[in-house]
Amino acid sequence: MRLDVMIMAREEMTSRERVLAVFNRTSYDKVPVINPTSVAIVESMRLTGAFFPHVHTDGSAMAALAGAGHDLFGFDSVTPYFSIHQEAAALGCEIDWGKLDKFPQILKSPLLEPDDFVMPKNFLDRKPIKTLLQAIKALKKKYGSEVAIIGKVVGPWTLAYHLHGAANLILETNLEPQKVHRFLEVLAQVPIQFAHAQFEAGADILTWADHATADLISAKAYAEFLLPVQQRCNKTLQKAGPVILHNCGPVADRLNLFAQAGFDAFHIDSRNNVREAVDIVGERMILTGNINNPSILLNGTVADVRRAVNNALDNGIELVSPECALPCWVPSRNLREIIHAARSRKGSARGDACG
Ligand SMILES: [Zn+2]
Repeated sequence: MRLDVMIMAREEMTSRERVLAVFNRTSYDKVPVINPTSVAIVESMRLTGAFFPHVHTDGSAMAALAGAGHDLFGFDSVTPYFSIHQEAAALGCEIDWGKLDKFPQILKSPLLEPDDFVMPKNFLDRKPIKTLLQAIKALKKKYGSEVAIIGKVVGPWTLAYHLHGAANLILETNLEPQKVHRFLEVLAQVPIQFAHAQFEAGADILTWADHATADLISAKAYAEFLLPVQQRCNKTLQKAGPVILHNCGPVADRLNLFAQAGFDAFHIDSRNNVREAVDIVGERMILTGNINNPSILLNGTVADVRRAVNNALDNGIELVSPECALPCWVPSRNLREIIHAARSRKGSARGDACG
């Protein structure tokens, strides 16, 4: 009888409660499915009338397309930042905003020296920044405490790629290490300010996109340059809300360092062995992601998706999600199947154990 009451109470959980329960280490009714990065697809653009590239620069269109993740597919979160270019656009990069099925890209990076960077006083009022804040506010107004709202910032490493050029930055880690330290120091104020503003606007959780990927920098260089900066940033955000690190690619050699950086969760891609990852991070970080985008979600069958979701959960993923921003031609049936497969399972062992 007591158990029945408990289960009934759990079934009344909202999407937002379900997601936040994972971060709070409390029980939840069903396995939550989130999207730390974009789940915008051409089908959802057609159904909402909110299309790439217009959504990147229009707050209400951005909110409408983000809402589709929950309304049309059933995700427990909505995530309005579809690209990683809002800050770069606000800070002087020349941007090609892309097209219907193409993400934006940087055409020109403006920053030669770290000391040329001045944090604009009106940063939060600049259009690409304001657009995202408006979208978060609109989503908060619409979903209130029903759906988890996930904001996003670009961390200082990726921001340095954008503003100074990735090739330049990588070269300078060897030739002018002090310059790289200085870049990260001055650029870190951008995600901190933007993160606080997004939490204030109504974000429940934040994705921190910082691509210290194994193909470009070593774990040793990550530890030397970026780790101390991310540690400082995470300290200042500790009270604001949970932060998910997004960093694509194989990360086994640096996962322990990511956990030391103080992130609450890590968005892990399918090139990693989740079981091994759980062994490395233990209780320090929640793992989300691991559902392969190109071969499973874009080109796979519904049965492939179901298998991938079950594998991810069996191996230790706590929050189900696609591994990275979705290619725009992913079919909606595969997105719906992520939620369907996760819903077919009960809450996690950790959730059940907490009662
Ligand atoms: Zn990614």
